[in-house]
Amino acid sequence: MIAELPLPPGKNGHQPDEDIPAASDPLDYVSVSRLKSFLGCRLRFYFEKVIGLPRPLSPSLHFGRAVHAGLQHYNLARWRAGDTSEPAVIAAYQKAFDNPEKGQEVTFDSADDKAELRAKGEPLLKAFLGTQLVAPDIKPEGVELKLRAELPALALPLLGVIDLVKADHCSVDYKTIAATPDLKLETWLHDLQLTAYTLLVEEATGERSPGNELVFLVKTKTPKAIVHAVPPPKQVQRDRFARLVETYATGVANEDYFPSPGQACAWCSYRSECSAWKGGAR
Ligand code: SF4
Repeated sequence: MIAELPLPPGKNGHQPDEDIPAASDPLDYVSVSRLKSFLGCRLRFYFEKVIGLPRPLSPSLHFGRAVHAGLQHYNLARWRAGDTSEPAVIAAYQKAFDNPEKGQEVTFDSADDKAELRAKGEPLLKAFLGTQLVAPDIKPEGVELKLRAELPALALPLLGVIDLVKADHCSVDYKTIAATPDLKLETWLHDLQLTAYTLLVEEATGERSPGNELVFLVKTKTPKAIVHAVPPPKQVQRDRFARLVETYATGVANEDYFPSPGQACAWCSYRSECSAWKGGAR
């Protein structure tokens, strides 16, 4: 059994370690969420993770978190020999959808849009349960596992919350997406996350990882669930991860924050703050 840290209250998001408190000292530890935010745009990272400027909750992120709550219920029920039935999973989803975390306001365009999105969760979770990807009676090693590791190769402690760790130490991450995924691209996009999870699980178990799984819940007209097995990271991926953590540690220590205008600005919540930037951290 993997020893875990206590979970932060209300953890049911679907993005990597998003519920680890954002506005703590960014040099206390590095997480995938911090690292990806920093590498994407250092100024956005500063607004989001260093000073913790509030941002609205998008409907798609809220939906993903609610679906995640249904999956979390299912996995916790497997772990504790609880109620793994379809109605119980759907109820967990609906409860999370109707009660946004921390009372955050969700930016729905209209009540109709909200109802339409809410209705999509049930068939999606039914598709997941119907595929029997995971037998309800097989007990996982950990669910929503919060792990911390201090590794000699990394410039900072590494922290992560893993959706599910199977009995063979394979970590599983759930992704709710709108279209059938390009698996090669998704593997590339989630390389840092899967490398981090591998390092955390290996440190906790003292054993080599057998690899990881990405499980996609695809909200197409006919919803479906797709499991994609990813082999354990090679040494070059582990070295690359360590160099990026080093870049993060140096950049944060020097408060080296600047805008990186690009496609990601389209969905950035901090454009007005960004437009006032004249150099420096603020
Ligand atoms: S608007 Fe673009 S450049 Fe500015 S903080 Fe956001 S992502 Fe970075």
